[in-house]
Amino acid sequence: MLVVQKYGGTSVRDIERIRNVAQRAIDYKNKGNDMVIVVSAMSGETDRLLNLANSIGKFPDEREVDVLISTGEQVTSALLAITLKEMGHDAISVLGHQVKIATDSSFGKARIEKLEKERILEELKKGKIVVVPGFQGVDKEGNITTLGRGGSDTTGVALAAGLSADVCEIYTDVDGVYTTDPNVCDKARRLDRISYDEMLEMAGLGAKVLQIRSVELAQKYNVPILVKSSLVEGKGTLVCKEEMMSMEKVVISGITYSKNEAKITVRGVPDKPGVAAGIFTALSDAKIVVDIIVQNVSRGTTTDITFTVAKTDAKKAYAIMEDTAQKTGAEKVTMDEDMAKVSIVGLGMISHAGIASKMFSVLASEGINIEAITTSEIKVSCVIESKYGELAVRALHTAFGLDDEDVREEK
Ligand code: ADP
Ligand code: ASP
Ligand code: MG
Repeated sequence: MLVVQKYGGTSVRDIERIRNVAQRAIDYKNKGNDMVIVVSAMSGETDRLLNLANSIGKFPDEREVDVLISTGEQVTSALLAITLKEMGHDAISVLGHQVKIATDSSFGKARIEKLEKERILEELKKGKIVVVPGFQGVDKEGNITTLGRGGSDTTGVALAAGLSADVCEIYTDVDGVYTTDPNVCDKARRLDRISYDEMLEMAGLGAKVLQIRSVELAQKYNVPILVKSSLVEGKGTLVCKEEMMSMEKVVISGITYSKNEAKITVRGVPDKPGVAAGIFTALSDAKIVVDIIVQNVSRGTTTDITFTVAKTDAKKAYAIMEDTAQKTGAEKVTMDEDMAKVSIVGLGMISHAGIASKMFSVLASEGINIEAITTSEIKVSCVIESKYGELAVRALHTAFGLDDEDVREEK
Protein backbone atom coordinates (compact mmCIF):
# COMPACT_ATOMS: atom_id res chain seq x y z
CA MET A 1 0.00 0.00 0.00
CA LEU A 2 1.00 3.61 -0.48
CA VAL A 3 0.12 5.61 2.61
CA VAL A 4 0.26 9.39 3.03
CA GLN A 5 0.32 10.55 6.66
CA LYS A 6 -0.01 14.18 7.66
CA TYR A 7 0.99 15.38 11.13
CA GLY A 8 -0.30 18.68 12.54
CA GLY A 9 1.62 21.15 14.71
CA THR A 10 0.97 19.54 18.10
CA SER A 11 2.11 16.18 16.72
CA VAL A 12 5.56 17.61 15.88
CA ARG A 13 5.75 20.05 18.79
CA ASP A 14 9.20 18.91 19.96
CA ILE A 15 11.86 16.29 19.26
CA GLU A 16 10.14 13.70 21.42
CA ARG A 17 6.93 14.03 19.39
CA ILE A 18 8.94 13.95 16.16
CA ARG A 19 10.47 10.65 17.31
CA ASN A 20 6.98 9.35 17.90
CA VAL A 21 6.05 10.29 14.31
CA ALA A 22 9.22 8.66 12.98
CA GLN A 23 8.49 5.45 14.90
CA ARG A 24 5.01 5.14 13.41
CA ALA A 25 6.32 5.82 9.90
CA ILE A 26 8.99 3.13 10.32
CA ASP A 27 6.44 0.63 11.70
CA TYR A 28 4.20 1.18 8.68
CA LYS A 29 7.17 0.94 6.32
CA ASN A 30 8.32 -2.31 7.92
CA LYS A 31 4.89 -3.76 7.23
CA GLY A 32 5.57 -3.25 3.54
CA ASN A 33 3.95 0.13 2.89
CA ASP A 34 5.45 2.96 0.88
CA MET A 35 5.37 6.03 3.13
CA VAL A 36 5.01 9.74 2.37
CA ILE A 37 4.89 11.94 5.47
CA VAL A 38 3.58 15.52 5.35
CA VAL A 39 4.40 17.72 8.32
CA SER A 40 3.14 21.04 9.67
CA ALA A 41 5.28 23.57 11.48
CA MET A 42 5.80 23.00 15.22
CA SER A 43 2.74 24.26 17.09
CA GLY A 44 2.69 28.03 17.46
CA GLU A 45 5.49 28.55 14.93
CA THR A 46 3.39 29.92 12.06
CA ASP A 47 1.73 32.40 14.44
CA ARG A 48 5.12 33.41 15.81
CA LEU A 49 6.46 34.10 12.32
CA LEU A 50 3.33 36.00 11.29
CA ASN A 51 3.54 38.15 14.41
CA LEU A 52 7.13 39.01 13.58
CA ALA A 53 6.14 40.14 10.08
CA ASN A 54 3.18 42.12 11.42
CA SER A 55 5.36 43.84 13.99
CA ILE A 56 7.31 45.49 11.18
CA GLY A 57 4.39 47.24 9.54
CA LYS A 58 0.67 47.11 8.87
CA PHE A 59 0.85 45.52 5.42
CA PRO A 60 3.96 43.33 5.19
CA ASP A 61 4.79 42.31 1.61
CA GLU A 62 2.75 39.21 0.81
CA ARG A 63 5.42 37.44 -1.22
CA GLU A 64 7.96 37.82 1.54
CA VAL A 65 5.47 36.74 4.22
CA ASP A 66 5.09 33.44 2.34
CA VAL A 67 8.88 33.06 2.16
CA LEU A 68 8.88 33.58 5.93
CA ILE A 69 5.98 31.41 7.07
CA SER A 70 6.86 28.49 4.81
CA THR A 71 10.05 28.01 6.85
CA GLY A 72 8.19 26.45 9.78
CA GLU A 73 7.34 23.38 7.73
CA GLN A 74 10.83 23.21 6.26
CA VAL A 75 12.30 22.98 9.77
CA THR A 76 10.06 20.07 10.83
CA SER A 77 10.64 18.23 7.52
CA ALA A 78 14.39 18.30 8.00
CA LEU A 79 14.12 17.36 11.68
CA LEU A 80 11.90 14.40 10.85
CA ALA A 81 14.20 13.19 8.07
CA ILE A 82 17.22 13.50 10.40
CA THR A 83 15.33 11.60 13.12
CA LEU A 84 14.30 8.82 10.74
CA LYS A 85 17.90 8.39 9.65
CA GLU A 86 19.14 8.40 13.25
CA MET A 87 16.60 5.68 13.97
CA GLY A 88 18.11 3.61 11.21
CA HIS A 89 15.77 4.20 8.30
CA ASP A 90 16.65 5.89 5.06
CA ALA A 91 14.64 9.04 4.46
CA ILE A 92 14.69 12.28 2.49
CA SER A 93 12.89 15.60 2.75
CA VAL A 94 11.56 16.98 -0.52
CA LEU A 95 10.38 20.62 -0.35
CA GLY A 96 7.35 22.04 -2.16
CA HIS A 97 9.37 23.43 -5.08
CA GLN A 98 11.41 20.23 -5.34
CA VAL A 99 8.34 17.99 -5.56
CA LYS A 100 6.98 20.20 -7.28
CA ILE A 101 3.66 21.42 -5.96
CA ALA A 102 2.66 24.05 -8.52
CA THR A 103 0.20 26.71 -7.36
CA ASP A 104 -1.27 29.98 -8.56
CA SER A 105 0.28 33.20 -7.28
CA SER A 106 -2.27 34.15 -4.58
CA PHE A 107 0.22 34.51 -1.75
CA GLY A 108 -1.19 33.37 1.58
CA LYS A 109 -4.07 31.45 -0.02
CA ALA A 110 -2.61 29.80 -3.11
CA ARG A 111 -4.44 26.97 -4.83
CA ILE A 112 -2.65 23.88 -6.06
CA GLU A 113 -2.78 23.66 -9.87
CA LYS A 114 -0.56 20.71 -10.60
CA LEU A 115 1.52 18.22 -8.72
CA GLU A 116 4.48 16.39 -10.20
CA LYS A 117 4.90 12.96 -8.71
CA GLU A 118 8.09 11.70 -10.38
CA ARG A 119 10.59 12.85 -7.74
CA ILE A 120 8.61 11.30 -4.87
CA LEU A 121 8.10 8.03 -6.76
CA GLU A 122 11.83 7.88 -7.51
CA GLU A 123 12.71 8.26 -3.83
CA LEU A 124 10.09 5.72 -2.77
CA LYS A 125 11.55 3.25 -5.25
CA LYS A 126 14.90 3.62 -3.49
CA GLY A 127 13.15 2.45 -0.32
CA LYS A 128 13.17 5.85 1.38
CA ILE A 129 10.53 7.37 3.58
CA VAL A 130 9.71 10.66 1.87
CA VAL A 131 9.01 13.70 4.02
CA VAL A 132 7.22 16.68 2.46
CA PRO A 133 6.54 20.00 4.21
CA GLY A 134 2.87 20.88 4.20
CA PHE A 135 1.39 24.30 3.44
CA GLN A 136 3.92 25.32 0.74
CA GLY A 137 4.03 25.39 -3.04
CA VAL A 138 5.67 27.28 -5.86
CA ASP A 139 4.12 29.51 -8.53
CA LYS A 140 4.98 29.80 -12.24
CA GLU A 141 7.67 32.40 -11.55
CA GLY A 142 9.33 30.18 -8.96
CA ASN A 143 8.05 32.16 -5.97
CA ILE A 144 7.27 30.29 -2.76
CA THR A 145 3.55 30.32 -1.94
CA THR A 146 1.48 29.08 1.00
CA LEU A 147 -1.94 27.45 0.94
CA GLY A 148 -3.82 29.29 3.71
CA ARG A 149 -4.05 28.49 7.43
CA GLY A 150 -4.44 24.79 8.05
CA GLY A 151 -3.11 24.16 4.52
CA SER A 152 -0.95 21.16 5.40
CA ASP A 153 -4.12 19.05 5.36
CA THR A 154 -4.52 20.06 1.72
CA THR A 155 -0.91 19.16 0.91
CA GLY A 156 -1.53 15.72 2.43
CA VAL A 157 -4.68 15.06 0.44
CA ALA A 158 -3.22 16.51 -2.78
CA LEU A 159 -0.24 14.17 -2.51
CA ALA A 160 -2.51 11.22 -1.73
CA ALA A 161 -4.61 12.07 -4.80
CA GLY A 162 -1.63 12.70 -7.08
CA LEU A 163 0.18 9.53 -6.04
CA SER A 164 -3.03 7.43 -6.01
CA ALA A 165 -2.35 6.53 -2.39
CA ASP A 166 -4.64 4.03 -0.70
CA VAL A 167 -5.41 6.33 2.18
CA CYS A 168 -4.55 9.73 3.58
CA GLU A 169 -4.17 9.60 7.36
CA ILE A 170 -4.41 12.96 9.15
CA TYR A 171 -2.89 12.87 12.63
CA THR A 172 -3.91 15.62 15.03
CA ASP A 173 -4.53 16.38 18.72
CA VAL A 174 -8.02 14.83 18.82
CA ASP A 175 -8.77 11.21 17.99
CA GLY A 176 -11.19 11.88 15.14
CA VAL A 177 -13.98 14.10 13.92
CA TYR A 178 -16.50 14.74 16.67
CA THR A 179 -20.16 15.71 16.69
CA THR A 180 -18.93 19.13 17.74
CA ASP A 181 -15.62 20.66 18.85
CA PRO A 182 -14.60 18.46 21.83
CA ASN A 183 -12.80 21.46 23.27
CA VAL A 184 -16.09 23.38 23.47
CA CYS A 185 -18.54 20.65 24.46
CA ASP A 186 -17.35 17.87 26.72
CA LYS A 187 -20.22 15.66 25.64
CA ALA A 188 -19.01 15.62 22.04
CA ARG A 189 -18.90 12.15 20.54
CA ARG A 190 -16.43 10.76 18.03
CA LEU A 191 -17.96 9.75 14.72
CA ASP A 192 -16.80 6.49 13.13
CA ARG A 193 -17.58 7.85 9.69
CA ILE A 194 -18.66 11.09 8.11
CA SER A 195 -19.51 11.74 4.46
CA TYR A 196 -17.52 14.19 2.33
CA ASP A 197 -20.57 16.45 2.00
CA GLU A 198 -21.12 16.65 5.74
CA MET A 199 -17.42 17.20 6.40
CA LEU A 200 -17.34 19.94 3.76
CA GLU A 201 -20.17 21.75 5.50
CA MET A 202 -18.58 21.28 8.92
CA ALA A 203 -15.16 22.47 7.76
CA GLY A 204 -16.73 25.47 6.04
CA LEU A 205 -18.73 26.34 9.15
CA GLY A 206 -15.89 26.39 11.66
CA ALA A 207 -14.68 22.83 12.38
CA LYS A 208 -10.99 23.45 11.76
CA VAL A 209 -10.05 19.80 12.23
CA LEU A 210 -9.70 19.63 8.43
CA GLN A 211 -9.05 22.53 6.07
CA ILE A 212 -12.05 22.80 3.73
CA ARG A 213 -9.90 22.58 0.59
CA SER A 214 -8.51 19.25 1.68
CA VAL A 215 -12.04 17.87 1.88
CA GLU A 216 -12.92 19.30 -1.55
CA LEU A 217 -9.89 17.58 -3.06
CA ALA A 218 -10.56 14.32 -1.24
CA GLN A 219 -14.11 14.26 -2.58
CA LYS A 220 -13.05 15.18 -6.11
CA TYR A 221 -10.40 12.47 -6.31
CA ASN A 222 -12.15 10.01 -4.02
CA VAL A 223 -9.36 9.85 -1.44
CA PRO A 224 -10.48 8.32 1.87
CA ILE A 225 -9.27 10.46 4.81
CA LEU A 226 -8.71 8.86 8.18
CA VAL A 227 -8.50 11.40 11.02
CA LYS A 228 -6.61 10.06 14.05
CA SER A 229 -4.68 11.13 17.10
CA SER A 230 -0.91 10.88 17.00
CA LEU A 231 -0.87 10.38 20.76
CA VAL A 232 -3.55 7.83 21.59
CA GLU A 233 -4.45 4.67 19.72
CA GLY A 234 -7.95 4.49 18.30
CA LYS A 235 -10.06 3.87 15.23
CA GLY A 236 -10.32 7.52 14.28
CA THR A 237 -12.91 8.85 11.83
CA LEU A 238 -13.17 7.87 8.19
CA VAL A 239 -14.23 10.69 5.85
CA CYS A 240 -15.70 8.90 2.86
CA LYS A 241 -18.39 8.66 0.19
CA GLU A 242 -21.99 8.68 1.31
CA GLU A 243 -22.49 5.14 0.00
CA MET A 244 -19.92 3.90 2.49
CA MET A 245 -21.80 5.31 5.45
CA SER A 246 -23.28 2.80 7.82
CA MET A 247 -27.01 2.36 8.14
CA GLU A 248 -27.09 4.38 11.36
CA LYS A 249 -30.18 6.54 11.28
CA VAL A 250 -28.65 9.77 12.52
CA VAL A 251 -30.35 12.93 11.36
CA ILE A 252 -27.74 15.38 12.58
CA SER A 253 -24.07 14.42 12.45
CA GLY A 254 -22.52 17.53 13.82
CA ILE A 255 -22.83 21.01 15.23
CA THR A 256 -20.41 23.79 14.42
CA TYR A 257 -19.79 27.22 15.74
CA SER A 258 -17.79 30.11 14.40
CA LYS A 259 -17.19 33.33 16.33
CA ASN A 260 -15.73 35.11 13.43
CA GLU A 261 -18.87 36.90 12.17
CA ALA A 262 -20.01 40.49 11.86
CA LYS A 263 -23.47 41.63 10.83
CA ILE A 264 -24.15 44.79 8.82
CA THR A 265 -27.61 46.20 8.13
CA VAL A 266 -28.38 48.84 5.54
CA ARG A 267 -31.71 50.41 6.50
CA GLY A 268 -34.20 52.25 4.36
CA VAL A 269 -32.79 51.09 1.05
CA PRO A 270 -34.90 52.28 -1.93
CA ASP A 271 -36.81 49.19 -3.11
CA LYS A 272 -36.03 49.20 -6.81
CA PRO A 273 -34.10 47.03 -9.27
CA GLY A 274 -30.32 47.35 -9.15
CA VAL A 275 -29.89 48.46 -5.55
CA ALA A 276 -28.86 45.05 -4.18
CA ALA A 277 -26.54 44.64 -7.15
CA GLY A 278 -24.93 47.99 -6.28
CA ILE A 279 -24.37 47.04 -2.66
CA PHE A 280 -22.88 43.63 -3.29
CA THR A 281 -20.82 44.70 -6.30
CA ALA A 282 -19.16 47.34 -4.11
CA LEU A 283 -18.26 44.62 -1.60
CA SER A 284 -17.02 42.11 -4.16
CA ASP A 285 -14.91 44.82 -5.85
CA ALA A 286 -13.18 45.15 -2.48
CA LYS A 287 -12.69 41.33 -2.41
CA ILE A 288 -14.96 40.99 0.62
CA VAL A 289 -16.75 37.68 0.85
CA VAL A 290 -20.36 38.00 2.00
CA ASP A 291 -21.88 35.06 3.80
CA ILE A 292 -25.56 35.29 4.74
CA ILE A 293 -27.87 37.84 3.09
CA VAL A 294 -31.36 38.69 4.35
CA GLN A 295 -33.63 41.20 2.65
CA ASN A 296 -36.73 42.23 4.56
CA VAL A 297 -40.16 42.47 2.96
CA SER A 298 -40.39 46.04 1.74
CA ARG A 299 -42.26 48.70 3.73
CA GLY A 300 -43.73 50.77 0.95
CA THR A 301 -40.85 52.17 -1.06
CA THR A 302 -37.93 51.08 1.08
CA THR A 303 -36.51 47.89 2.55
CA ASP A 304 -33.65 46.74 4.84
CA ILE A 305 -30.78 44.51 3.76
CA THR A 306 -28.73 42.59 6.33
CA PHE A 307 -25.64 40.54 5.59
CA THR A 308 -22.73 38.95 7.41
CA VAL A 309 -19.02 39.10 6.66
CA ALA A 310 -15.91 37.77 8.41
CA LYS A 311 -15.02 39.91 11.42
CA THR A 312 -11.67 40.74 9.84
CA ASP A 313 -13.48 42.43 6.93
CA ALA A 314 -16.10 44.18 9.07
CA LYS A 315 -14.61 47.68 9.31
CA LYS A 316 -13.78 47.79 5.63
CA ALA A 317 -17.26 46.54 4.68
CA TYR A 318 -18.91 49.12 6.96
CA ALA A 319 -16.98 51.99 5.38
CA ILE A 320 -17.96 50.81 1.90
CA MET A 321 -21.61 50.53 2.95
CA GLU A 322 -21.67 54.05 4.39
CA ASP A 323 -20.44 55.30 1.06
CA THR A 324 -22.91 53.15 -0.91
CA ALA A 325 -25.77 54.19 1.37
CA GLN A 326 -25.14 57.83 0.57
CA LYS A 327 -25.03 57.18 -3.16
CA THR A 328 -28.21 55.08 -3.21
CA GLY A 329 -30.16 57.22 -0.75
CA ALA A 330 -30.39 54.57 1.96
CA GLU A 331 -31.20 55.84 5.48
CA LYS A 332 -28.39 54.42 7.59
CA VAL A 333 -25.94 51.60 8.17
CA THR A 334 -25.51 49.69 11.43
CA MET A 335 -22.99 47.05 12.39
CA ASP A 336 -22.60 44.44 15.10
CA GLU A 337 -19.17 42.85 15.29
CA ASP A 338 -19.93 40.32 18.01
CA MET A 339 -21.86 37.69 16.19
CA ALA A 340 -21.46 33.94 15.97
CA LYS A 341 -22.82 31.41 13.55
CA VAL A 342 -24.06 28.13 14.95
CA SER A 343 -24.97 25.39 12.50
CA ILE A 344 -26.38 21.89 12.47
CA VAL A 345 -25.17 19.55 9.71
CA GLY A 346 -26.52 16.18 8.66
CA LEU A 347 -27.43 14.14 5.59
CA GLY A 348 -30.55 12.94 7.39
CA MET A 349 -32.07 16.40 6.98
CA ILE A 350 -32.85 15.61 3.37
CA SER A 351 -35.46 13.08 4.43
CA HIS A 352 -36.61 14.48 7.77
CA ALA A 353 -39.05 17.35 8.21
CA GLY A 354 -39.04 19.73 11.15
CA ILE A 355 -35.30 19.88 11.78
CA ALA A 356 -34.98 23.63 11.27
CA SER A 357 -38.00 24.39 13.44
CA LYS A 358 -36.59 22.18 16.18
CA MET A 359 -33.34 24.13 16.05
CA PHE A 360 -35.20 27.45 16.32
CA SER A 361 -37.25 26.17 19.28
CA VAL A 362 -34.13 25.00 21.12
CA LEU A 363 -32.49 28.41 20.69
CA ALA A 364 -35.70 30.16 21.76
CA SER A 365 -35.98 28.05 24.89
CA GLU A 366 -32.49 29.25 25.86
CA GLY A 367 -33.58 32.86 25.28
CA ILE A 368 -31.28 33.20 22.27
CA ASN A 369 -32.46 35.52 19.51
CA ILE A 370 -31.82 34.50 15.88
CA GLU A 371 -30.57 37.39 13.75
CA ALA A 372 -30.27 35.66 10.40
CA ILE A 373 -30.79 32.17 9.00
CA THR A 374 -29.39 30.29 6.06
CA THR A 375 -29.97 26.73 4.93
CA SER A 376 -28.72 24.19 2.43
CA GLU A 377 -29.94 20.65 1.79
CA ILE A 378 -27.85 19.33 4.66
CA LYS A 379 -27.34 22.27 7.03
CA VAL A 380 -29.12 25.05 8.90
CA SER A 381 -27.10 28.01 10.20
CA CYS A 382 -28.29 30.71 12.58
CA VAL A 383 -26.47 33.94 13.33
CA ILE A 384 -26.73 34.79 17.02
CA GLU A 385 -24.98 37.02 19.53
CA SER A 386 -21.46 35.76 20.11
CA LYS A 387 -21.85 35.49 23.88
CA TYR A 388 -24.46 32.74 23.39
CA GLY A 389 -22.33 30.66 20.99
CA GLU A 390 -21.11 27.95 23.33
CA LEU A 391 -24.44 27.73 25.15
CA ALA A 392 -26.18 27.24 21.79
CA VAL A 393 -23.77 24.46 20.79
CA ARG A 394 -24.33 22.57 24.03
CA ALA A 395 -28.12 22.99 23.98
CA LEU A 396 -28.38 21.81 20.37
CA HIS A 397 -26.00 18.91 21.01
CA THR A 398 -28.30 17.64 23.75
CA ALA A 399 -31.55 18.36 21.91
CA PHE A 400 -30.48 16.46 18.81
CA GLY A 401 -29.47 13.43 20.87
CA LEU A 402 -25.75 13.69 20.25
CA ASP A 403 -24.56 13.66 23.87
CA ASP A 404 -22.44 10.76 24.93
CA GLU A 405 -22.34 10.43 28.68
CA ASP A 406 -19.51 7.88 28.57
CA VAL A 407 -17.20 9.76 26.29
CA ARG A 408 -14.86 10.93 29.07
CA GLU A 409 -14.22 7.42 30.34
CA GLU A 410 -13.61 6.05 26.88
CA LYS A 411 -10.69 8.39 26.25
P1 ADP B 1 -3.55 20.33 13.58
O1 ADP B 1 -2.57 21.29 14.16
O2 ADP B 1 -3.24 18.90 13.89
O3 ADP B 1 -3.79 20.56 12.12
P2 ADP B 1 -5.97 21.76 14.27
O4 ADP B 1 -5.84 22.60 15.49
O5 ADP B 1 -5.89 22.44 12.96
O6 ADP B 1 -4.91 20.57 14.36
O7 ADP B 1 -7.35 20.95 14.33
C1 ADP B 1 -7.67 20.17 15.43
C2 ADP B 1 -8.67 20.91 16.33
O8 ADP B 1 -9.91 21.06 15.65
C3 ADP B 1 -9.04 20.20 17.60
O9 ADP B 1 -8.12 20.44 18.65
C4 ADP B 1 -10.43 20.76 17.92
O10 ADP B 1 -10.41 21.76 18.91
C5 ADP B 1 -10.87 21.41 16.61
N1 ADP B 1 -12.21 20.99 16.17
C6 ADP B 1 -13.22 21.82 15.84
N2 ADP B 1 -14.33 21.13 15.53
C7 ADP B 1 -14.03 19.82 15.65
C8 ADP B 1 -14.77 18.61 15.44
N3 ADP B 1 -16.04 18.62 15.04
N4 ADP B 1 -14.13 17.43 15.67
C9 ADP B 1 -12.84 17.40 16.06
N5 ADP B 1 -12.09 18.52 16.28
C10 ADP B 1 -12.66 19.72 16.07
N1 ASP C 1 1.49 25.74 9.76
C1 ASP C 1 0.34 26.18 9.00
C2 ASP C 1 -0.70 26.81 9.93
O1 ASP C 1 -0.45 26.92 11.13
C3 ASP C 1 -0.26 25.08 8.18
C4 ASP C 1 -0.81 23.91 8.95
O2 ASP C 1 -0.41 23.68 10.09
O3 ASP C 1 -1.66 23.19 8.40
O4 ASP C 1 -1.71 27.24 9.48
MG1 MG D 1 -4.98 22.00 11.13
